[in-house]
Amino acid sequence: MKSRVAIIGAGMSGLLLARKLRESAIDVTVYDQKRALGHPVRASSILSLNGLAALGIDHTKIPANELKGAIIHADGKSMEIRSKKTMAYSMDRHELNEMLKEECLDTGANVEIGRRIEANDLDTMSRNSIIVGADGFNSVVARHYDFRGSAEHVLTYRAEYLAQQEDTSMVELFFDRRIMPGFFGWIAPEPKGVVELGIGVGEGHGNSKAAYDKFVKIYRVREFLASAKLKDQGASVIPIGFRKRFADNEKEVLLVGDAAGQVKATTGGGIIFGGSGALIAADVIKRHIKGGASLVEYERLWKKKHLTDMRMHNVVRGIYSALDARQIASFMRLMKAMKIDKFLGGYGDMDRPSVVLKRFFLRRFAE
Ligand SMILES: Cc1cc2nc3c(=O)[nH]c(=O)nc-3n(C[C@H](O)[C@H](O)[C@H](O)COP(=O)(O)OP(=O)(O)OC[C@H]3O[C@@H](n4cnc5c(N)ncnc54)[C@H](O)[C@@H]3O)c2cc1C
Repeated sequence: MKSRVAIIGAGMSGLLLARKLRESAIDVTVYDQKRALGHPVRASSILSLNGLAALGIDHTKIPANELKGAIIHADGKSMEIRSKKTMAYSMDRHELNEMLKEECLDTGANVEIGRRIEANDLDTMSRNSIIVGADGFNSVVARHYDFRGSAEHVLTYRAEYLAQQEDTSMVELFFDRRIMPGFFGWIAPEPKGVVELGIGVGEGHGNSKAAYDKFVKIYRVREFLASAKLKDQGASVIPIGFRKRFADNEKEVLLVGDAAGQVKATTGGGIIFGGSGALIAADVIKRHIKGGASLVEYERLWKKKHLTDMRMHNVVRGIYSALDARQIASFMRLMKAMKIDKFLGGYGDMDRPSVVLKRFFLRRFAE
């Protein structure tokens, strides 16, 4: 039985896993090809309060912008879902990764940055270490050990601007399948006067930069851009749909986070579900090393915890992808008439639709 762990990838999932393994004094090394983690920044970091607490991320250690809800735009109409309380925080991804890296180093984990791991390195490392692929959507570990791919990818393009926003507590979401088929566009305030603009398009619907160029012509986006200054921009990919398998007990290999496709289909948010994967994997690895538990237990426990919500996120994405902007605007009118916007403002949960549905029916029965 191997007693060391080699984690490929020092993104959120890899670092959360390393930090957790060190609580059990397990010998762990994290490798990342980048010299500056989270750079160049190609993804935002909006995380729910519940999710942050579940992952043990202390958002007070770095600048964080409070978010209270979302404004949804479609066909020139809009609907606001606003909570009285803070629902989530947006943070700078580089700062978040650096904070976790420091926490890992404090626990005694080895973190080797600026080192790309190739297939032949995996063969050498696997002689004395359990291998964890936390290396994102294009995982070398998944390819080398023949884990089958995610269902689909969303191609994104996003840009960071310096901008003065009156209200930094609301994210704006734009639905128009002529411009962003299979996904949506967003304006998301971050800390320190930074605002992110982005879009996603479902795989097979063309190039994300071409879609972004159309997105910036939408009236509300043009209005925002009039007083904004470009800081950084680029394309990235979100895997949608987790792999059929993400643990192999015989080879002692696991995948976590985007490498496993642990991402919610509605928004492409993967930190909470991938982070949860990392925590479950850490527990199973500990039991594997100390008592011979099967690593496949990790796969079973993650699905037990998240399968219902993952399926519900898929259904919601299927609905908004099938509707054109006018139909979404009509749907929003109906939601307002039924006061669902108010309900979501008070009882929404951006990660767990199953909890929202339960609350909805409980309230209806109580009325
Ligand atoms: C535009 C955009 C916006 C997003 N917004 C949000 C959001 O607001 N909230 C949210 O929860 N999620 C969001 N996501 C999703 C989120 O970014 C991912 O789910 C999350 O980063 C997954 O973390 P990870 O550690 O699994 O993988 P990654 O963050 O992809 O990290 C993988 C790491 O592995 C390293 N690596 C890869 N291959 C190798 C190799 N061969 N050798 C060494 N190192 C390697 C990479 O350098 C990288 O650092 C967004 C994604 C995008 C694209």
